[in-house]
Amino acid sequence: MAAGPDVLVVGGGIGGLANALALTRKGLRVRLLERAAEFGEVGAGLQIAPNCTRILDSWGLLDEVLSLGVRPEALVMRDALDGSVLTRLDLADAHARYGSPYVVIHRSDLHGTLLRACRAAGVDLVTGVRVTGYETRDGGATVLHEGGRETAPVVLAADGLNSVARRLFSDDEPVSSAYVAYRGAIPAEQVAAMDVSMSEVVVYVGPHCHFVQYPLRQGEMFNQVAVFRSPRALAGREDWGTPDELDAAFAGTCDQVRAGLPLMWRDRWWRMFDREPLDSWVRGRLALTGDAAHPPLQYLAQGAVMAMEDAWVLAEHVGARSAPEGPDWDAALAAYEVVRTGHCRRVQTTARAWGELWHLTGADREWRNAVLRARDVRDYAFVDWLYGPTALTPDEEPPMFAPIPRDSVGLPTDAEHAAEVVRPR
Ligand SMILES: Cc1cc2nc3c(=O)[nH]c(=O)nc-3n(C[C@H](O)[C@H](O)[C@H](O)COP(=O)(O)OP(=O)(O)OC[C@H]3O[C@@H](n4cnc5c(N)ncnc54)[C@H](O)[C@@H]3O)c2cc1C
Repeated sequence: MAAGPDVLVVGGGIGGLANALALTRKGLRVRLLERAAEFGEVGAGLQIAPNCTRILDSWGLLDEVLSLGVRPEALVMRDALDGSVLTRLDLADAHARYGSPYVVIHRSDLHGTLLRACRAAGVDLVTGVRVTGYETRDGGATVLHEGGRETAPVVLAADGLNSVARRLFSDDEPVSSAYVAYRGAIPAEQVAAMDVSMSEVVVYVGPHCHFVQYPLRQGEMFNQVAVFRSPRALAGREDWGTPDELDAAFAGTCDQVRAGLPLMWRDRWWRMFDREPLDSWVRGRLALTGDAAHPPLQYLAQGAVMAMEDAWVLAEHVGARSAPEGPDWDAALAAYEVVRTGHCRRVQTTARAWGELWHLTGADREWRNAVLRARDVRDYAFVDWLYGPTALTPDEEPPMFAPIPRDSVGLPTDAEHAAEVVRPR
């Protein structure tokens, strides 16, 4: 890159690559710094909802993503104890409603698609650079790393849950949910004899646990995620989330779930953290994006989606404020911040509530199951606020769904907080 970059992006995950691509497509010179020796992603699955496939289409990447992924027919929710179907969302119908498909894809395939697009667009992609600090000044920002310092008119920090840049905005720490995820993406022939769906995303919801299954790579692979609350985490112990806890957490679940457990990767697991929403992600010419700004619990499958939406929103605002001397960065960053902080706060807080709903026990679980069984499968109230077009301004943000009253299914319940768990925040 002869002249200096217009934008420095820190972090080469899905969020960093998406930002680099979106801004390069607006004619800007972007340099991206990644600490790892090579670009890459964990080899598990990712759900990409219509609010993001719409954006991938605008970047010219949707055909490639569809050719690498799977377009499931439905999202199906089942009870993890008895295996019964609780509710479903027809994804062909949703495609018609939102004008864009729902896709499931191997993470490394989506990451690879974004990486190839960045290379083709001319992003200056640099690995092996660990950023250690940031400075802001009038009209620009600086990143500090082991090899020195680099300055640009704008720095975007896409450095994930444990973001260094976030420390300039807040002294908060990741919030432990005491839940842990096991993953496993395996050749499909390993589940050929099992009672699994190769055309749906299925989530079994159970007491303090859930289990997700869906096909990947045009049906050549099968993805599973097992999530449970760790008793050792609750007890404040360091050694939480181990395979013995996995087996104990799912011991009482239905045959389909227990059949899938031996196929999980057992040598690594992911403790589930989010953070409290922040009201501000922009300081001068430094901005947070992706998980650095708004790491969610994964229950709405919107973390990577939000990261890509961030990229699209910022680039649209930059494009709308371009001038021969360069974009009006301050106005673009302000417009980005005002709309995205509001939206992502909703997703983060609703994801927590959604997780509570999934993991209910006893009478609360009965209430939840009755509500879900009574739900009209063509009712899109719970996803309209997510799957519609990404808002560029706060007034474009759709209304939230209405809370479900406790007595809505005529089921007397002593549930302590059942009405609360589906109350949008
Ligand atoms: C079990 C599970 C299931 C999920 N399922 C879904 C799903 O179905 N759909 C969905 O949309 N989301 C899902 N998510 C969330 C999603 O994975 C994340 O929100 C998303 O990957 C965040 O991307 P990111 O680029 O912002 O951050 P990251 O992926 O964390 O990338 C950060 C990058 O920055 C680099 N980096 C960090 N620090 C530095 C530094 N100091 N200097 C230089 N580089 C640095 C890292 O090496 C990394 O490459 C799931 C998450 C989990 C845990």
